[in-house]
Amino acid sequence: MLRPVHLWAVLSVLSALWLPSCGGDAREARRVILITCDTLRADRLGMYGYQRDTSKQLDRLAAEATVYDSAWCTAPVTVPALSSLHSGLLPHEIGATYTNRNQMPSEVVTIAERVRQAGLTTAAFVSNGVLKRPPAEMGDVGLQQGFELYNDDMKSRELQRPIVERVAPDCADAALEWLQARKTAGEDEFFLWVHFQDPHGPYTPPPEMDVYKGKLDGERLPVADKSVGVRNAIPAYQYLPEESMDGVRDGGAARYADLYDAEIRYFDQHAGRVLQWLRDQGWYEDALIIFTADHGESLGERGWWFCHGESVHAEQTRVPLLVRTPGASGASKATREARMVSHLDLKPTILDALGVETAAARGVSLLAGRPPAERPLSAYLGNPSQSKVAYAISDGRWRLVLDSRDPISLHELGTDPLEQVNLAPANPGVVKQLLSLHEAWFQAQSTTGAAKERPMDAATQRALSGLGYTDGDGH
Ligand SMILES: [Zn+2]
Repeated sequence: MLRPVHLWAVLSVLSALWLPSCGGDAREARRVILITCDTLRADRLGMYGYQRDTSKQLDRLAAEATVYDSAWCTAPVTVPALSSLHSGLLPHEIGATYTNRNQMPSEVVTIAERVRQAGLTTAAFVSNGVLKRPPAEMGDVGLQQGFELYNDDMKSRELQRPIVERVAPDCADAALEWLQARKTAGEDEFFLWVHFQDPHGPYTPPPEMDVYKGKLDGERLPVADKSVGVRNAIPAYQYLPEESMDGVRDGGAARYADLYDAEIRYFDQHAGRVLQWLRDQGWYEDALIIFTADHGESLGERGWWFCHGESVHAEQTRVPLLVRTPGASGASKATREARMVSHLDLKPTILDALGVETAAARGVSLLAGRPPAERPLSAYLGNPSQSKVAYAISDGRWRLVLDSRDPISLHELGTDPLEQVNLAPANPGVVKQLLSLHEAWFQAQSTTGAAKERPMDAATQRALSGLGYTDGDGH
């Protein structure tokens, strides 16, 4: 049971709601390019200290950007996470919590809608099958809201995941074709969102990307299981055939990690092509460029193997975040920001860069100076009004994780970013404070209408139930 709301917590929440002071300030960026990647842990990238060269292209971007060392999504599931990012609202405020089938209602005002209202071109290129445009009869709902072009042309199918996708070279090619057309037409002001899919399981990179064989120590591989959501087992959509294991079936968890890293390398190479095109065309310098992931991935932590959508702990909800502001070329090194930030901050940031006014928001513009040292930020798996739920609340120093399947856990972000040491038993007062903070934060929600659930076609339903999926896609 949550405790009653305390006045201090309410005041804390109200002071954290950001009220924009801008009234059409001079625009900082002529265009915004938002690159997101599915299922990408921050700690597998060079700019976050990883020892493998998975991210040469993004490291080059990072050298001219602010690198956020404590950036978080609001849900470890694709559609809720990205809906939250694009709306600036928490998942349950837009009716999107656990399932990828819930589409944001039309009442939600997205980044793209505000940008388009301000007269700029908007386009999106998405590559995960769960991001396909909802059926027309559902109306103007979901992530496509506000995009003049919402390109969801996906022809590839991944091994054992019966949902379409688009691989990195095809996604980059589509985005580059659109950019070239803008160049030819002389249209250089726009908001472009490109979502890559490759690190999402199953980990099946092309052979030329498979360069990390057996160079990390491994843990013993758990048994395969025909279900998602079972601890100490590999989800069915992830299970790799013998030929992919390169002869290391026994003790082969490291082999899965090798292939996960190779998928990141694959994504990075092609995201780099988009960035290089912008440089070559002179469209890089006066752009705001943001890179992040929708969520992370468990690689064995807490008994969850090669999956997400199962926990709100750091491995599934901490994300990379790079923000490169206009005029940053030639910076000698990356700027690091240790303060906690959230996907909730990206809508205010993008609108701020383009000089587009926004209403009061939960997040802050990252262009307005350092983010607050203390403010409530949260992540959800399910709705806190339901019995089976996990959520996390942080005040910037501590992070409390409540999961209906686990003991309550408390972590100090600065010293334990991977959330491995539970300090809850020794700090009951902090636990109590964070519970009160969460209740006030949760109750200060806006009402934007219920989500609409995307119907599932019969063929997909049959394919999924045959594989034991409960939600459809491994999230
Ligand atoms: Zn995802």
